[in-house]
Amino acid sequence: MKKLIAANWKMNFTLSEAREFVLQLLQKSQEHTEILEKAEFLICAPYVFLSALSEYSKQGVVSFGGQNCSVHDKGAYTGEISAGMLKDVGCSHVIVGHSERREYHKEDNILVNEKAKAVHQNGLSAIICVGESRKEREANLQEEVIERQLFESVPKNAIPENTIIAYEPVWAIGTGKTPSPEDAGQMHSFIRAFLTKNYSQGEKMRILYGGSMNSGNAEKLLTTPNIDGGLIGTASLKFEEFFGVAQCA
Ligand code: PEP
Repeated sequence: MKKLIAANWKMNFTLSEAREFVLQLLQKSQEHTEILEKAEFLICAPYVFLSALSEYSKQGVVSFGGQNCSVHDKGAYTGEISAGMLKDVGCSHVIVGHSERREYHKEDNILVNEKAKAVHQNGLSAIICVGESRKEREANLQEEVIERQLFESVPKNAIPENTIIAYEPVWAIGTGKTPSPEDAGQMHSFIRAFLTKNYSQGEKMRILYGGSMNSGNAEKLLTTPNIDGGLIGTASLKFEEFFGVAQCA
């Protein structure tokens, strides 16, 4: 399985900076075609850039995704964007349940599950984020917390074609801290066992690691069993850093 190197740009960049980044990615990938044998690129960009950027997916190097979506298909939901709209502008993926959505928008597992279903119903792939807080890790509750998040957030009919799990310990996001490759590996094995037991083809579902991944720590993380790629925030805002992560794959 190729490693998925996914950027989560959050609320950053102008459209011209975003285009510039994608053009660099296309050019660098042409110069290093060996990378595309081992890695796939995905960029989850702000909604308003997606229509323009998804034109670049035609070259088969990079796909595009949203960072969130509504549970609804359409209607009187001011400010919301549906999974169908994301599909319509060329997206293939949607992040749901990112810890920033869970924290700042009070999204819970049940809502995340409904969003993932909306993504599935529109033929897209949901990147479902889970992760424990620092307090939960310190109390050694991480497995219990992740099991509950998975159980409640991942729709029962999830399959590898429509679902990717992103394990993102909340204490590692944007902090420069990461779990040791051993601790990350232990959690990814735990998630793999859960998926294998509870989902058809769970053994094949991608599990990404997210949380301060960068070109310096990616090699160790990406060579850890059951880490099938990365969801990258801060390091996805600098082209060389992001491409450096892919080179580790
Ligand atoms: C994220 O927010 O998904 C993320 C992984 O951020 P960072 O890489 O900055 O920790």
